[in-house]
Amino acid sequence: MPTAGKRPVRGQEMTEARAADKKAGSKPKGDVRVGAMKCNVCLAPMTNYANVKQHYESKHPKETCPTEESFAK
Ligand SMILES: [Zn+2]
Repeated sequence: MPTAGKRPVRGQEMTEARAADKKAGSKPKGDVRVGAMKCNVCLAPMTNYANVKQHYESKHPKETCPTEESFAK
């Protein structure tokens, strides 16, 4: 693959767009959607309440899982 970016190639544009997409997807840290919920014990980011419940059951079985309402803010 040529490294010089003087000639705009359609295929290259698509590749860059995909790369940017991939980059954004691999960075959950700054993603607001992912940070909407998190474990109150270890602060691990959760995508939804079912995820939280499952996480509590496997990681913090002695802790009480907070209600779904407590996350809906
Ligand atoms: Zn946790």
